[in-house]
Amino acid sequence: MPGLEDLYREIILDHYRNPRNKGELATPPAHRTEGMNPLCGDEISVYLVVDGSGPDATVTDISIGGQGCSISQSSASMMTTAVKGKTVAEARLVVKAFKSMMGIHDGDADSHDRPDSHDHDDSAEHTNPAAAGTAVKLGDLEALRGVVKFPVRIKCATLAWNTMNQGLDEVSAP
Ligand code: ZN
Repeated sequence: MPGLEDLYREIILDHYRNPRNKGELATPPAHRTEGMNPLCGDEISVYLVVDGSGPDATVTDISIGGQGCSISQSSASMMTTAVKGKTVAEARLVVKAFKSMMGIHDGDADSHDRPDSHDHDDSAEHTNPAAAGTAVKLGDLEALRGVVKFPVRIKCATLAWNTMNQGLDEVSAP
């Protein structure tokens, strides 16, 4: 019987071989943001179409261009399926949940006020799912959870997310 790691490997390979929402979108209406991870050579273009504004702003379309390793490509593919059709606010929550799963906790402006905020324990294999997930369903993205054990690959896994986040900032800018 295949174990969880085998299942996760299958999910990652499936997204790598059959990437969802792959290709370019016309700009405009789409907004293109590029990102790269020089450590691995991953390059990515995130095409975003955001309709509406304010709380109603919705990611109506997203597509991924570029090339890279299986982790960066499968993570990007899974990201598109996770945020497409969601509001910008929901998409940002998914970004936060995913980065939290990768052991990255940013955007927490007052974190330095808390005495327990710097206990980065690299030996901790299990993050607190209740704190990390915050009711956001990561679905297939759970397959990338094992990446956290390979710090050098975390940048591969988060490249698409950081690039999309930057794109959302640019789209939302007044
Ligand atoms: Zn990579």
